[in-house]
Amino acid sequence: MIADKARLKSKRRIERFTGYRLPDQAFHGTVIEAITSRINFSSLDGTHRDQILAFIQEFCRCNCRDSPFCGCPERAFAKLIVELRENGLDHKDISRHLVDTYGIEIYPADVLGFLEESVHVLEAVRDIARLEGKEETAVAAAEHIALISR
Ligand SMILES: [Zn+2]
Repeated sequence: MIADKARLKSKRRIERFTGYRLPDQAFHGTVIEAITSRINFSSLDGTHRDQILAFIQEFCRCNCRDSPFCGCPERAFAKLIVELRENGLDHKDISRHLVDTYGIEIYPADVLGFLEESVHVLEAVRDIARLEGKEETAVAAAEHIALISR
């Protein structure tokens, strides 16, 4: 999963404030729990605070009972990457945008690999939808393919 490749830039700082070690993955439930409930935001400097707040706002908005272990943050992250690509950003732009806005570090190559994989999945969706006569789904998948691979 693409979310497993994302790391949080301010992880060390957050570890210092919470007093315990955190996993490397930004979307690990333990990390999200730490930033949503155990951080004293006044102890973070401006940029890091803004990034953590943007992270929470963008990825931690569900009301699932088992949040943040429900999978929603990871799905929101994957969806955002596809949206950014469809809005014209390439994999390097996306990597830069994620670190600037949310403090999420991810290699451009990992973003590119994920986008290529998404196109393959969409191609399969398109082909199956055609076989089953679900033309609307096939057209929607084809549109996403065109936007991602242009
Ligand atoms: Zn959820």
